[in-house]
Amino acid sequence: MENEARSDVVVIGGGVIGVAIAYYLSRRGIRTILLEKRGLLLGTSGACDGFFAVQSKRPGLLLRLTLESIKEIERLSKELPIPIHYRRCGGLILIENSYEMKLMEDFVTRQREAGLEVKIISIEEAKYFCPLLADDLEGATYSPMDGQVHPHYLTLALLEGFKAFGGKVMLRSEATEVIVEGKQVRGVRTDAGLRIKSDTVVCAAGVESSRVGERLGIKIPVVPKRGQILVTEKIPPLLRAILFDAKYILVKLHPEVLKDVSDEVRKLGVGLIVEQTEHGNLLLGSTRELVGFDDSVTFEAISAIARNTLRYLPGLHKINIIRAFAGLRPSTPDGYPIIGPVEGIEGLIIATGHEGDGIALAPITGRLVSELIAEGKTSIDISPLSPSRFSRT
Ligand SMILES: Cc1cc2nc3c(=O)[nH]c(=O)nc-3n(C[C@H](O)[C@H](O)[C@H](O)COP(=O)(O)OP(=O)(O)OC[C@H]3O[C@@H](n4cnc5c(N)ncnc54)[C@H](O)[C@@H]3O)c2cc1C
Repeated sequence: MENEARSDVVVIGGGVIGVAIAYYLSRRGIRTILLEKRGLLLGTSGACDGFFAVQSKRPGLLLRLTLESIKEIERLSKELPIPIHYRRCGGLILIENSYEMKLMEDFVTRQREAGLEVKIISIEEAKYFCPLLADDLEGATYSPMDGQVHPHYLTLALLEGFKAFGGKVMLRSEATEVIVEGKQVRGVRTDAGLRIKSDTVVCAAGVESSRVGERLGIKIPVVPKRGQILVTEKIPPLLRAILFDAKYILVKLHPEVLKDVSDEVRKLGVGLIVEQTEHGNLLLGSTRELVGFDDSVTFEAISAIARNTLRYLPGLHKINIIRAFAGLRPSTPDGYPIIGPVEGIEGLIIATGHEGDGIALAPITGRLVSELIAEGKTSIDISPLSPSRFSRT
């Protein structure tokens, strides 16, 4: 006979998104079981940076969600049982030439209209935040609202908070089937032969969400987009803000910004991101590569990231790289996450596809999905993120 358990909600996936949802549900007193097929931090949330970035968001729903997520993370950093190392340190987007400057001026105007505190500064002013910046850069944008969090501690703290509210975590437990009777979800089966009865199931399986969908005959079009990161040796404090380059932001809106870049930068989708950890290591990134589920590190990318970083921070040439890692961003065809109920299957909710923003969007995703489950509606209209947008033609 099958083993059985019962829960109000089952969350599939123990990455930062699943754990945030589980935390917000249990905080409301909703009995929740979290299933993670491998272990903690073995998915994307364990192989990423910790930018809590607002400046990178286009004005519109994503910017609004990120601003709300800042409010949530500030509350979480006080209420979670272990420190998450969140700092609102500010961020700079480095602008290489006058063409990028023109585009960024327009971008900044629209962001300011949408409520973001952000301005253009000269490269001399930018050097206050990082003295090693190249002299020949055109300038930078600066927002004091960008921040940094430790993604591992954020995930672990949400998990500890979830458990403290009575939530149950099952590691090395794969959800092999979502049980649907008629048009209603009735639970989940695991690879250990456990049947968990539940009328609500959340799929937060990151890059593997499409596989969960396939078993149900629904399309969750998430594909992995590899990003590689270099880690330097520890150095004395160098950065007073996180750093991006304008190409990283503009490439989706104005692909022509890549016209003068080298073939390797274009092929690997290299964009600058630099942060310094509390221990003093720099994290340098990153690439955007469509290579399926291959999460290996390549020499080609390591060289390209190092070269790109030295273009913006030439003074780093004597700093040693001590390791590199790669993670798979859960990306969607339109660049927006997929969050919401599945039409036609009562009780099935999707929360995935956060691509390069999942750390920053985890708190607000957790809050909104818990609202959806507890109240049947969300405090922010997230219908544009609905899974059904991909089934409409
Ligand atoms: C190089 C890189 C840098 C990044 N930098 C940033 C950044 O600075 N800021 C930011 O906001 N975001 C960043 N991101 C994006 C962020 O890391 C992701 O958006 C986020 O981690 C996705 O979290 P997730 O919970 O959806 O996925 P994951 O962390 O992958 O979690 C999904 C989990 O589901 C489990 N699972 C899958 N199928 C099943 C199943 N059937 N049953 C049970 N469990 C299952 C998996 O084992 C996995 O642990 C970066 C990503 C990369 C790759």
